[in-house]
Amino acid sequence: MEECIFCQIANGKRDAEIIYSDEKVMAFMDHRPIGRGHILVLPREHYRDVFEIPDDILCRVSVIAKKLSIAVKRTFNPLGINLIENNGTDAGQTIFHFHIHIIPRYDSRYNNELAKVAWGRKVVSPDVLRETREKIQKNLETGK
Ligand code: AMP
Ligand code: ZN
Repeated sequence: MEECIFCQIANGKRDAEIIYSDEKVMAFMDHRPIGRGHILVLPREHYRDVFEIPDDILCRVSVIAKKLSIAVKRTFNPLGINLIENNGTDAGQTIFHFHIHIIPRYDSRYNNELAKVAWGRKVVSPDVLRETREKIQKNLETGK
């Protein structure tokens, strides 16, 4: 099977504009940026998504995403920054190697597909919220 694109970048077999690199984590500029300064932060090792990535690696990737977000804010002072991580095709994932997007926003209307979804939401009843919360809590594993 062909090596995934992000593994190729991590292994130096494919070019990317790398902005950060250590033994576990790397980050490079998204080649189709939503806005100036759009960065992807990922583990060097291949994990498909949030369900596969180990906790300690997720922590390291998240801390670097925070540091890079601060640098982007200092550099371009965008109106806002989204940190987004897609899991599964229907959630918008196209590269199946875990990565966090750092997406600076320069449009004050936040005029994108996510916003349309957000604007279309309806407040649901407390009963529905409670039932949903109870169902998820039964599957919540903590303290691992
Ligand atoms: P996602 O849809 O969450 O899986 O995001 C994948 C992201 O990777 C997209 O925003 C692409 O523009 C970006 N991307 C794909 N290939 C490359 C590449 N070779 N170098 C930089 N960014 C890439
Ligand atoms: Zn990979």
